[in-house]
Amino acid sequence: MNDLQNKVALVTGGTGGIGSAICRRLAAAGARVVSTYRNEEKAKAWASAQDYEATILPCDVGSYDDCVRMAAELESQVGPPDILVNNAGITRDASFKKIAPEQWRAVINANLDSVFNVSHQFVNAMADRGWGRVVNISSLNGQKGCFGQTNYCAAKAGIHGFTMALAQEVARKGVTVNTVSPGYIATDMVMAIPEEVRNKIVAQIPMGRLGTPEEIASLVAYLASESAGFITGANFSANGGQFMH
Ligand code: NDP
Repeated sequence: MNDLQNKVALVTGGTGGIGSAICRRLAAAGARVVSTYRNEEKAKAWASAQDYEATILPCDVGSYDDCVRMAAELESQVGPPDILVNNAGITRDASFKKIAPEQWRAVINANLDSVFNVSHQFVNAMADRGWGRVVNISSLNGQKGCFGQTNYCAAKAGIHGFTMALAQEVARKGVTVNTVSPGYIATDMVMAIPEEVRNKIVAQIPMGRLGTPEEIASLVAYLASESAGFITGANFSANGGQFMH
């Protein structure tokens, strides 16, 4: 269980629904956990509610310069990360007919640019040290498309392209890069969907329920472990059977 002893794990958006479960799970496996945040009040309350020592660092992952600053802070406070979970993300849903350029850009920026912005700070050093794990959180909707989410689906599909390309570049250096594509998980992001729409979504899930953040976190923790060393460039679905391919 303490497979990640002495490893530093950086989770972007670790204060959110899925991110919190990922942080908890990595901490339980022995990792020193660091989460980025934007909302300071929420992040401070979050950090003091955890039953392990979580370090929080401010960072807008959509800004390259802010990621450079955050990386310097992380390295001086804790050390370089061995595990990076690119989890931060947002939705700004609108049909293509109505979507505004700002909604397109905000979602591409927070979900896709962020994966480059953060990974670029740390992955080359992981390769130099000969060990690293990168897990990128995509989405079921990046695999199958979804009405009203051209922005989100483009960003999430783009993430897996990034995963496959980077995985090839660092495969011989002991660094693995994988994608996890959750289906509908019971977090604030999904509970914000009107109940009537949510019930229709649940009816389309063969398992007849939403997933839990812990179910995503245990997959991420496995991919971050030593045991997953031969797995790279893969995309793992965790969606209750909603999309099989
Ligand atoms: P939450 O809204 O609970 O958490 C999202 C987190 O991302 C927050 O901590 C937020 O920080 C952070 N974040 C967003 N934008 C930025 C930014 N520009 N810079 C820094 N941090 C940012 O969402 P979930 O936990 O539900 O989602 C986590 C990931 O899983 C996302 O990538 C989402 O797309 C993906 N996903 C979620 C599914 C679900 O059903 N919930 C399904 C499939 C994928 P802050 O609050 O401080 O702004």
